[in-house]
Amino acid sequence: MLIDLHAHSTASDGTDAPAGVVRAAAAAGLDVVALTDHDTTAGWDEATAEAHASGVTVVLGSEISARWDGISVHLLSYLQDPDHPALLAEMERTRQARLVRARTMVALLEEDYGLTWDEVMAQTGADATVGRPHIADALVARGVVTDRSAAFATLLVPSSRYYVPHYAPDAVDAVAAIRVAGGVPVFAHPGADVRGRVVPDAAVEQLVAAGLAGLEVHHRDHSPQQVARLTALADRLGLLVTGSSDYHGDGKPNGLGERSTAPDVLDRIAEQGTTAVVRP
Ligand code: AMP
Ligand code: FE
Ligand code: FE
Ligand code: ZN
Repeated sequence: MLIDLHAHSTASDGTDAPAGVVRAAAAAGLDVVALTDHDTTAGWDEATAEAHASGVTVVLGSEISARWDGISVHLLSYLQDPDHPALLAEMERTRQARLVRARTMVALLEEDYGLTWDEVMAQTGADATVGRPHIADALVARGVVTDRSAAFATLLVPSSRYYVPHYAPDAVDAVAAIRVAGGVPVFAHPGADVRGRVVPDAAVEQLVAAGLAGLEVHHRDHSPQQVARLTALADRLGLLVTGSSDYHGDGKPNGLGERSTAPDVLDRIAEQGTTAVVRP
């Protein structure tokens, strides 16, 4: 069984449509893929339909933007009620804040590079959650940088003069909100120190008190030291351990199935979630 529980589509900052992610999972030989777009469930219906067509089991979810003491925290929410009002409202608040933030960043980039909002929208799926990857793609199209990675290494890093932060809920509150909505919260890439600051063990303990179910221990942005640290932490706190690719289509080198999750861990997640896993 090859199980990959973290992938993005054009409903956020991936480059494959939701059905395309499921088809790519089938082509990569996966048995199970989770669709976890940033702050949205917009791709769920399309992915569900394709599960039957492609013969791949689909776990529906989202990746919720949050913060702990100013540090960015991403929480995978699996199998929540997609219509739960509180979680929906929180996702919508973040999506609006991301839009305002992206417009502000593009206005700054327009002054120096001529980048326009229309160019960014041309790179963004209809109703997609807007993020820096869409700005990166527009910068590539304009010839300012060669690829997304180059944009993230220069103009879009947090230390750049063009970088603007956006609202995101407190991570402890977000874990609780995911549970109230019937979802299963798993901390995405908790040790990705190549991207920026990561939270201390004490923060993970607070998240566990609020209902955290697991840690995404196996992720390409984790050093061997972080994998060792997080494995021990998950063991001490009784947390589920997952591994996933964080696939973004052509937008990132992450390949489907490059990290994977054990079948018994998926069973625990399925038991705790409100929405059923989609079996083909
Ligand atoms: P944002 O959510 O708008 O702050 O942008 C962060 C997103 O950009 C993450 O979800 C990643 O998928 C993506 N990202 C971060 N670093 C890189 C990179 N070096 N190359 C491509 N995409 C990246
Ligand atoms: Fe992303
Ligand atoms: Fe993430
Ligand atoms: Zn992700």
